[in-house]
Amino acid sequence: MNTRENEIILGIDLGTTNSLAAWYAPGGPEVIGAGDDALVPSVIALEHGAATVGTAAKARAVLNPLGTVYSVKRLMGRGLADLADELGFLPYHVVQGAHDTVRVEVDGRLLSPQELSAIILGEVRHRAEQALGRPIAKAVITVPAYFDDAQRQATRDAGRIAGLEVLRIVNEPTAAALAYGLDRRENATIAVYDFGGGTFDVSILHVEGGVFQVLSTHGDTHLGGDDLDRALIDLITGEIRDRFGEALSFPPATRQALRQFAEATKIRLSAEPSAAVEIDLGEGRAYRRTITRGQFETLAAPWVERTIGACREAMDAAGVAPGGIDEVVMVGGSTRIPMVVRRVGEVFGREPYTAIDPDRVVALGAAVQAGILGGHRRDMLLLDVTPLSLGIETLGGAMGKLILRNSTVPCKASEVFTTSADGQTSVDIHVLQGERELVADCRSLGRFKLAGLPPMPAGAPRIRVTFMIDANGILHVRAVEERSGRTASIQITPSHGLTGEEVQRMVRESWTHAREDMTAHRMIDLRNEAGRILAAIDKALANVPGALDDAQQRRLDDAVARLKALLGGGDPDAVYEAMTAANEAAAPLTEAQMDAVLSRTVKGRKLDEVGE
Ligand code: AMP
Repeated sequence: MNTRENEIILGIDLGTTNSLAAWYAPGGPEVIGAGDDALVPSVIALEHGAATVGTAAKARAVLNPLGTVYSVKRLMGRGLADLADELGFLPYHVVQGAHDTVRVEVDGRLLSPQELSAIILGEVRHRAEQALGRPIAKAVITVPAYFDDAQRQATRDAGRIAGLEVLRIVNEPTAAALAYGLDRRENATIAVYDFGGGTFDVSILHVEGGVFQVLSTHGDTHLGGDDLDRALIDLITGEIRDRFGEALSFPPATRQALRQFAEATKIRLSAEPSAAVEIDLGEGRAYRRTITRGQFETLAAPWVERTIGACREAMDAAGVAPGGIDEVVMVGGSTRIPMVVRRVGEVFGREPYTAIDPDRVVALGAAVQAGILGGHRRDMLLLDVTPLSLGIETLGGAMGKLILRNSTVPCKASEVFTTSADGQTSVDIHVLQGERELVADCRSLGRFKLAGLPPMPAGAPRIRVTFMIDANGILHVRAVEERSGRTASIQITPSHGLTGEEVQRMVRESWTHAREDMTAHRMIDLRNEAGRILAAIDKALANVPGALDDAQQRRLDDAVARLKALLGGGDPDAVYEAMTAANEAAAPLTEAQMDAVLSRTVKGRKLDEVGE
């Protein structure tokens, strides 16, 4: 393969509903485009001899259904006879063409699925060229594992029509496994579960010596998140009819709004335990109810169980028992549903990988393949040791390290933390990477919340935070409040996006700044400690008023004022001295307080004895 070092090879996920591109950036695979802009809806509007692609085309679907082509991936390399099940879903005209392939007919013009896919690929390529500021002529494109030769050939042709030399057609599940670095596994069996908006498939792969083999694949090309939206719509419209009468009908605009509303509710329930639903029906009538995650799970269960059945069949077909699956990878937007992750984990007996965005994992994997073909991969770090330290943010903005750099992977470390305020019912856990002492100088890898803690006094909860880096360089962080058993966790891939050079720079900076960092970290610790002392003094003054004579009170006031004044500065030694002085000045107060407590206890005991 002749590829120049600086030549860009795109990795393209050409999807049924959305397409997107990634490339092998200097720091590793990266999706091209930010946020939702990265996704190009795989929709083409053909009007007046011109084609529009993406979001603008999608907007034409309602006004011009015959000229708006979507789901063209379903037509690739297929004849009319193959498409009996599909045609009912497609509003545009599909007709028989030459060599037992289909054509889409728009305004009397016949277009092959390859040409239509090429229009999408052309748009993806154009956006990538704009974003990267360079012409692009080569690509790796992904296809489902179940695509046959004709479908793969059609995809290759679509690339050629779009002016791209297609260096490789890669299976989507293989790409997902590549994104997680599973090609480096000596010998492993991997399940890739892909649950999107309109399609579902599961593949069992085997990897050995960097070579992937698809052992089996199963699925349903008409099962997806859309079904769950419809189940929610049925629930809502059913209840509206029950409550407000049979006659209530819904015009198309309302149905469309309901669909969007149902999807938003479903997405909300992936993050929250319940979602409020309120629909204004006009004429002073309103439908209101709260849907809990549990209720949604009951509703979604039949569909999720169908996917679980397919997982069992795929294992049977591959001749693998659940105990024989080494890794599980999640792909597709619907795998963000917590119940899906749970059930997939149960059927394969493994916690699935979810760290990489399930909508981007295939494109990222295609970029890894592009990086291998372009010869870029060799300067990536081999993650047999962790290149930078990992830890969490502690009180006052300091970095508390749990795993030190150069620890051999896999590795595990845990530490117990507590709360700083009374009655705290949740704790934010901020995961960091870097060598410096302050949060602001480290790289933020992610955050999560440990919620639902029973209110306890500050310092009482025992929050055990465990960091574990597995053999693939994936960081698993888990927090457990040991008294209540509440747990929360997150997965992070620290391997993506850092080059050897960046790591070197971060390590170098930590040496250069070592002295100032240490001072800053010490100041944070001292401020926290001083805060506790000052609060204790205030409390004691309130508990035992009049315990100090005038001279003692003046000495204490002076010491407290001096300590407060020094806290804003940056001299840890001076703060330490002032803190010690304040502590000493408060000693008579502490004694008086202890006496008060003792006498109360003694009185209490006497009362008990009288009662006996
Ligand atoms: P994909 O085809 O992979 O882009 O997946 C799209 C599907 O994922 C749609 O049905 C979305 O409603 C669904 N989806 C996206 N995000 C979430 C989420 N957070 N929870 C549940 N479903 C989601």
